[in-house]
Amino acid sequence: MKQRLKRILITGGAGFLGSHLSDRLVEQGHDVICVDNFFTSQKHNIIHLVGKPNFELIRHDITHPLWLEVDEVYNLACPASPVHYQYNPIKTTKVSVIGALNVLGIGKRCKAKIFQASTSEVYGDPDIHPQPESYRGNVNPIGVRACYDEGKRVAETLFFDYHRSNGVNIRVVRIFNTYGPRMHPYDGRVVSNFILQALRDEDITLYGDGSQTRSFCYVDDLVEGFIRMMNGPDDFIGPVNLGNPDEFTIKELAQIVIELTGSKSKLVYMPLPDDDPTQRQPNIELAKERLGWEPTIKLRDGLGKTIDYFKSIDLNSFRQPTDHTAHKSSNLG
Ligand code: NAD
Ligand code: UDP
Repeated sequence: MKQRLKRILITGGAGFLGSHLSDRLVEQGHDVICVDNFFTSQKHNIIHLVGKPNFELIRHDITHPLWLEVDEVYNLACPASPVHYQYNPIKTTKVSVIGALNVLGIGKRCKAKIFQASTSEVYGDPDIHPQPESYRGNVNPIGVRACYDEGKRVAETLFFDYHRSNGVNIRVVRIFNTYGPRMHPYDGRVVSNFILQALRDEDITLYGDGSQTRSFCYVDDLVEGFIRMMNGPDDFIGPVNLGNPDEFTIKELAQIVIELTGSKSKLVYMPLPDDDPTQRQPNIELAKERLGWEPTIKLRDGLGKTIDYFKSIDLNSFRQPTDHTAHKSSNLG
């Protein structure tokens, strides 16, 4: 059956995840509007779409209202890496909360369906493992990660209150660590850091003893999950975990990156950032059952594609890293 073509707004559409989502939706023929202020991205990610009749790019900061008529909104605008979101923490909370209010306003006025890119960070440093959606989390409300964690938690609250009070049709996904081509090379995230370090034979920086775990999802798998969730039945609004349940220690990740790049890099140990979660693995039973979704791309395959991407880019065309790095941050008191 032919799919109905829709007007779709993607906030943060030029970012890592947003640009891949833009690709998929433009390819399907939808009328895609990408809104971005380029805080953590660059036009490079979506330049190949500019000029297509069904793609529109608007430079706009989502903390300010936006007047558009659309059928669906994917709300992705928010710095996502600890280095980026801790750079201006007050702005991070504003983007999460005011950005949510602005897109939900569109949902209410236009009867549009609104999708929220929430995060595994709503679980904080989890004491239940793996994390199911029913787990309410262990977040430090005054720590250095709180601007993001609590911002995203309030955004979820707003989504569910707009749904209950105003009948807005919502979808909420909790995204676990995702990687792939178009990650910002200076975002300080573990995959981008390790690949860049390995490609230059520089020391690989393990924060703490490297025994903390993460579960890494390749971007194409995640975007497939986004689209299934948006197009799923109206009685399934989430929140739903999307991520790859294959769990690795950070040290294991470093060793795999060294092996895949054939690097001469050595491991070095640096202080563990405050409130750094010790373990993280999604329970994806709900996504499997309701969306028929599960990741298909193994870590080594996805890392191979990501390494190829990092080899292909000109680092001079990216903004330099900020002085502030996650491992230097400290809590007060
Ligand atoms: P990203 O930083 O590459 O993309 C975010 C985009 O939002 C960037 O293009 C940035 O310029 C834009 N942006 C930031 N502030 C804005 C503002 N005020 N107005 C307009 N645009 C703004 O990060 P990403 O990895 O693509 O993440 C996208 C979304 O997914 C975020 O909401 C993030 O919280 C969520 N998420 C990502 C991951 C992951 O592992 N990648 C995990 C959990 C949640
Ligand atoms: N990390 C690391 N070295 C780095 C960057 C990150 O050891 O150069 C660790 C970090 O302390 C965390 C994990 O890798 O335990 C994942 O960090 P990332 O910033 O990618 O995302 P997070 O899942 O913490 O939000």
